[in-house]
Amino acid sequence: MSRRKDFEPSTNRERRAEILKTALKMNEVGLNQGSAGNVSLRIGDFTENNGFMVTPSGIPYDECTVDDMVPMTMEGLWSGKMKPSSEWKFHRDIYKDRPDVNAVIHTHSTFATTIACLGKDIPAFHYMVAVAGGRNIRCAPYHTFGSQELSDATVKALLRRKACLLGNHGMIVTGPNLKKALAMAVEVEELCEMYWRTLQVGGGNMIDDEEMGRVLVKFQTYGQFAPPMENDEDEYRPKLDPRKTHNPKVSLPKMRR
Ligand code: 13P
Ligand code: ZN
Repeated sequence: MSRRKDFEPSTNRERRAEILKTALKMNEVGLNQGSAGNVSLRIGDFTENNGFMVTPSGIPYDECTVDDMVPMTMEGLWSGKMKPSSEWKFHRDIYKDRPDVNAVIHTHSTFATTIACLGKDIPAFHYMVAVAGGRNIRCAPYHTFGSQELSDATVKALLRRKACLLGNHGMIVTGPNLKKALAMAVEVEELCEMYWRTLQVGGGNMIDDEEMGRVLVKFQTYGQFAPPMENDEDEYRPKLDPRKTHNPKVSLPKMRR
């Protein structure tokens, strides 16, 4: 009997293309406009300081080439001719805090940003809220874009969650890969639109904690390859399967600060 084996790890160039493709797709499907938002992918370098690659700052994605993606170390050093996204700190800090996360997407999508401008968490108005890993999707308080304060608030709002809103700003989603992170962004935006619609007519019925607990348990075995979901009561510190993390050797010459 043959066993399914992982393919060869893709090259770094393919990873650059994957990041750019995701950024273009996020605009194409209406999740973002212009050069707002940013996308990153964890790229290990076989040292204790795994790195990541992020979209460049302030350049519309349809004007970017794969060479414009910016490799970074966890200390904030970057390489290449483009400056990294102004939000590299929250990308870096999410990777540091969450070994389960390999991809991070930030967008200014309309409905998520609308709810974020109201400073509201997304409550259990629909059972699919649990897809982000808990009984609600938190909204982090507003802080200046690119600041360490914003990054700290983001990491906190993402505790035991795969997504959060950023007050007066937008949303962040995470995933084990870019494809799943993008799917999560679509899901969160959809939930925000539905939640916004319920708010227009006085708010919907909420699902109680006990039922959301049942949904969270059910999600553990939902679908074909359901990702492990947290127990909302416990600290979420999933175990890393090193075979599933990105670990191509990447050389980062001439790092800058
Ligand atoms: P960058 O172009 O620097 O990634 O900034 C976009 C953004 O959304 C800031 O929050
Ligand atoms: Zn932003």
